[in-house]
Amino acid sequence: MDTKVLSDRSSGNSAPPEAAPSHFICNIVSDDLKQNKNNGRVHTRFPPEPNGYLHIGHAKSICLNFGLAQEFGGKCNLRFDDTNPSKEEVEYVESIKQDVRWLGFDWEGREFYASDYFERLYDFAVDLIKAGKAFICDLTAEQMREHRGTLTEPGKNSPYRERNVEENMELFARMRAGEFLDGSRTLRAKIDMASPNINMRDPVLYRILRATHHRTGDKWCIYPTYDFAHGQSDSIEGITHSICTLEFEDHRPLYDWFLDELKIHHPQQIEFARLNLTYTVLSKRKLLQLVRDKHVNGWDDPRMPTLSGIRRRGYPAEAIRNFCERIGVAKRNSTVDIAMLEHSVREDLNKRAPRVMAVLRPIKVVLENCPDDKVEELEAVNNPEDPAAGTRKVPFSKTLYIEQDDFREEPPKGFFRLSPGKEVRLRYAYIIKCTEVVKDPSGAITELRCTYDPETKSGSAQASRKVKATIHWVSATHARVAEVRLYEQLFNKEDPDDVPEGVNWLSGLNLNSLEVLPTCKVEPYLANAKPGERFQFERLGYFCVDAVDSSPSKLVFNRTVTLRDSWAKIEKAGKKSQLLF
Ligand code: ATP
Ligand code: MG
Repeated sequence: MDTKVLSDRSSGNSAPPEAAPSHFICNIVSDDLKQNKNNGRVHTRFPPEPNGYLHIGHAKSICLNFGLAQEFGGKCNLRFDDTNPSKEEVEYVESIKQDVRWLGFDWEGREFYASDYFERLYDFAVDLIKAGKAFICDLTAEQMREHRGTLTEPGKNSPYRERNVEENMELFARMRAGEFLDGSRTLRAKIDMASPNINMRDPVLYRILRATHHRTGDKWCIYPTYDFAHGQSDSIEGITHSICTLEFEDHRPLYDWFLDELKIHHPQQIEFARLNLTYTVLSKRKLLQLVRDKHVNGWDDPRMPTLSGIRRRGYPAEAIRNFCERIGVAKRNSTVDIAMLEHSVREDLNKRAPRVMAVLRPIKVVLENCPDDKVEELEAVNNPEDPAAGTRKVPFSKTLYIEQDDFREEPPKGFFRLSPGKEVRLRYAYIIKCTEVVKDPSGAITELRCTYDPETKSGSAQASRKVKATIHWVSATHARVAEVRLYEQLFNKEDPDDVPEGVNWLSGLNLNSLEVLPTCKVEPYLANAKPGERFQFERLGYFCVDAVDSSPSKLVFNRTVTLRDSWAKIEKAGKKSQLLF
């Protein structure tokens, strides 16, 4: 495991070197340490609810919690807040563990579950009842809503609020024993129905729910609410800094109330802004809907913002960690441009992805002056950013494929790639000239007849003759066929949630977010590419071998991210006469 993940600040951002505090939570922890608070301990946790797969927003929380522990020599637990058996599943627990590990973090065996604490939470509830701070309420959910009041009006006391301790104790024990119907009674805290903070208006601590729990089975028919379990679980684990997202700011007085009334270890809750990204949604409920309604092919669909989705798409864990460091930690909600995430991915892959040639939309080129049996092994550089990556051989022969886009029968002004009578350089190889365009009866181009100039081999003494463009290619006889999947944003709109009243957020789905190209031609070097392996297809982008569908007999690549799109920039700037490659 890389223990330098967050403390290594030398990698391309403006934060000062050394382990200097870089955001307000670092500052708080660092000050606490200076004052020897918690006896100099730093203990954080990442507390997912196992009701869905983790997404890129969770990565921010993971990097923050594990990163603080690493930076300050502390510990970070992985704790599943599994208080809602009707929505939770083992599948989610397993995926979450896999994702945290993949991101590069290690909980060192401290894998905990709120459900491990059910007995203690029950005892805490009994303590509150005994202290006259909790009562059994017989109001239905509907009635409770009516009593709750609004932001501007105080709530009303439940008629059951003044039950005495003995009666409450007896009823709570009978709730646990399964004597009452689901939803017929609750245990509520006795705080203040007139509090301006609605969370303090006698919140529910326990509900009756006959649901099989993924860990405790049918042992319990009452379950603590998330609010009653979360803070106490942190307390039980000796967490020093309970870091959570801003929506829990209003819950903090309630969590403090529980800890104070129960007189137990009091972690310090600190809230930070959750990550939002353009062109996607980061709500587990919505992601679940995309999966269930089959708008995507599962939680690990490469278009999903889930960690399993972006992993399958080819995003490296290092790039995600860099991104999380780059976006920082703030107190105010904002939305990050997805281009910034893609930038982190490109930056990472640029350094380490081997370059190869692949033709996605092939058009055949026959070199008329090339002997039928000529096969020349040309030397190609694996990664210009990394000399240690070495070179490889690329076969060259009479029949090649080039990209349809790299040929125009009638080239517009500024188009310097191949066209009739014009020359272009083949990467690592020779200059070729188009002599004839062969078409089928419908007029579609089937083949280009070209000649090559044997004097112009790349790297040779006579190679100095200049042409304006270099294109990629593969030898037809040596190429492997591959399926390539091109992905675009999942939503057309920057903010998919920004829909008029009555319009479904799904209406913003980009129906062209997946394009499958089944007959791409890739150089033979890729025949042995392993699942998950990443490459730069020269001039096209970064691609990775699909870990699910690819096999030696059928190669499948996912486009991870395009290269920077210079054409779009040129077009945007209205300067179409510039080089077109
Ligand atoms: P939901 O989508 O149902 O609201 P959640 O995203 O809060 O759920 P949890 O499993 O409760 O899911 O999240 C685990 C931890 O990750 C929490 O501490 C939560 O605050 C944090 N987290 C969740 N989403 C984000 C986000 N977008 N940015 C940063 N942290 C997040
Ligand atoms: Mg949550």
